[in-house]
Amino acid sequence: MNKRILIIYTGGTIGMMPSDDGYVPMPGFHDQLMNQLDSRASDQLPAYELIEFDQLIDSANLTPAHWLQMAQALTARWNDYDGFVLLHGTDTLAYTASALSFMLRGINKPVILTGSQIPLAQLRNDALDNLVTAMLLAANPAISEVCICFNGRLLRGNRSVKVSSSGFDAFDSPSFPWLGRVGIEFELQPSLLLAPGTPDFRTPSFDPQAVSLLQLYPGIPARVAEAVLDCDALKGLVLQTYGAGNPPDANRELMAVLERARARGITLLNITQCAMGGVSQGTYATGAALNRIGAISGRDLTLEAAFAKLHVLIASGLGGDALERALQEPLCGECTVA
Ligand code: ASP
Repeated sequence: MNKRILIIYTGGTIGMMPSDDGYVPMPGFHDQLMNQLDSRASDQLPAYELIEFDQLIDSANLTPAHWLQMAQALTARWNDYDGFVLLHGTDTLAYTASALSFMLRGINKPVILTGSQIPLAQLRNDALDNLVTAMLLAANPAISEVCICFNGRLLRGNRSVKVSSSGFDAFDSPSFPWLGRVGIEFELQPSLLLAPGTPDFRTPSFDPQAVSLLQLYPGIPARVAEAVLDCDALKGLVLQTYGAGNPPDANRELMAVLERARARGITLLNITQCAMGGVSQGTYATGAALNRIGAISGRDLTLEAAFAKLHVLIASGLGGDALERALQEPLCGECTVA
């Protein structure tokens, strides 16, 4: 094994310690991790270096500014390593994996995100296995994309969602097959992996107010949508509708609020509340109402990928028709085109 990888510890349970208030990220985790790794058969691991963020994050506190910090940590060292492992809290890991996939487009080496449900400091943990597996995958030249590796599953980052707050199988990609499975053997699915490209990094500054989310629910009053849309800086809204992309079109006030938002230049990206399948806007008359308003079908985008895609494209300067065109194209395997 003559590969060289970089591990970046950003925070999360994997390196947390108990406190009177529950688990908190702890500085100095670097040494703890090195001790654990040094006791492993080092000839079976790629050569690695490890850096940790000055401000470790419980990923529940994450903002889009942290995506930029992580992308910059990777791009600044891109040519120095064969692959990267990003250690991250599980709560918003799928958002970060999605955002990084759009920021690090066309990459030619692996970026593997992982974390754990039990900290490395605990006797019984999933931290070491997740980390060691992620390191081996980060040294695998067959992978040229941002992935989540967790409990033996290798998932496309921008197809992943956190599905369990308590089980070791914390992540899945319900609308896309796993890129690989790690048991006794590493079984990758070469036909599913993205081909290596020419890196095209986008590391824009984010305005956290530029994108918002509205999940529809039975009886939603129009004023709830109005409150979400009442922000001058808002440029894109992820609209989480029912089933095949259906809003309650009989709620005329709500539909009028959405129509006014679109007329104000806010891009509406329609995704489904279902874990599997996607939007087919217009299969039902209810959904056709969104075609008339000019909402974009998010197909089978996850919530995390839809939110991150809007953010990255808007922060990169896209608006109007160009933004709407880019939203309809798969940029890095995030959605299925029929
Ligand atoms: N709250 C933690 C975090 O996301 C949970 C975890 O890492 O599992 O940072």
